[in-house]
Amino acid sequence: MKVAVFSTKPYDEEFLNKANVKKKHEFTFIDVRLNKHTVVLAKGFPCVCVFVNDVLDVEVLDHLHKLGVRFIALRCAGFNNVDFYEAEKLGMVVGRVPAYSPYSIAEHTIGLMLALSRNICRAYTRTRNGNFSIDGLLGYDIHSKTLGVIGTGKIGAITAKLMTAFGGRVVAYDIHQNPELVQLGVEYLPLDELLGCVDILSLHCPLTDESHHLICKKTIDQMKPGVMILNTSRGALVDTEDVIVGLKSGKIGSLGLDVYEEEANLFFEDYSDKVILDDQIARILVFPNVVVTSHQAYFTVDAVEGIGNTTIANIDAFENETLPPGLINWEMLKPRTC
Ligand code: NAD
Repeated sequence: MKVAVFSTKPYDEEFLNKANVKKKHEFTFIDVRLNKHTVVLAKGFPCVCVFVNDVLDVEVLDHLHKLGVRFIALRCAGFNNVDFYEAEKLGMVVGRVPAYSPYSIAEHTIGLMLALSRNICRAYTRTRNGNFSIDGLLGYDIHSKTLGVIGTGKIGAITAKLMTAFGGRVVAYDIHQNPELVQLGVEYLPLDELLGCVDILSLHCPLTDESHHLICKKTIDQMKPGVMILNTSRGALVDTEDVIVGLKSGKIGSLGLDVYEEEANLFFEDYSDKVILDDQIARILVFPNVVVTSHQAYFTVDAVEGIGNTTIANIDAFENETLPPGLINWEMLKPRTC
């Protein structure tokens, strides 16, 4: 099948070509993001392959459909950037990669947690500059803390399991309880109660209408002073403006972000010789108690190989008129509130 691969980076080309061992599919790699301005590039392709910051709203989907696109292969797990109701209406099939090493994201989350609790990033830049002073780098033990996870699906469950290894209390909130976690001693709490007791909070629920700006002034006010917030899920779970206020007042003690609500205009690109025009991220980046990574939590050899293989399996299945393994169907849409 002819596939237009949007938002291509050199590593995407490498892992998709590697997974396409039988050379059944013909990829055209396009380095721009898919949106209303670039959608014309999909002309002549029955399939588009897209990533987290490609925009598949009503306008783009309608245009894709008119151009003859029938299958959308997401090479990611999250699917908040696709209007499924419109895709369903147009009869377009959407496949994603539901699981590809959830360990990659969970482990990155723990990495952010330790980097913040022990000031590792600041220590690294100091010693690189020959500054071996440890003034101002005082950290704290995770062991005695209460760690909280919101969303205990594939990634959140592994994060919670890893957190139990530190020996403190691990609490969780989810619409569905995971019995394996309960057996491990993870306590499920109502959201309000969880927000009030955690020292470290990690977000792993998907971005939906319900979870949009889950972390905002109201919920930050409910938290303990000095709380650490980690977001490796989706940027818009966090209201950036309210988080900046929380960091300035000290209510938020530290923040680890792998995702940012306006990341589409920044992440995956090199702006090191340019002025950053987004004032919110520019402010976030200068706090000493913040670590930002650029949506790289998924980026391990193990995960990208998994993404390549499932993406090819999805395209194969669509071509063979069987159900793609990562099919997103109506059942999956039901939890949405809109
Ligand atoms: P999953 O579907 O396995 O789990 C999501 C969990 O969240 C489910 O248990 C669900 O019941 C729960 N949930 C849904 N709405 C909720 C709400 N409002 N409050 C509390 N819990 C809620 O998903 P997953 O594979 O664990 O992925 C989680 C998220 O991680 C994805 O949605 C994606 O946005 C993000 N992600 C990020 C990266 C990255 O590189 N940073 C990579 C992959 C996925």
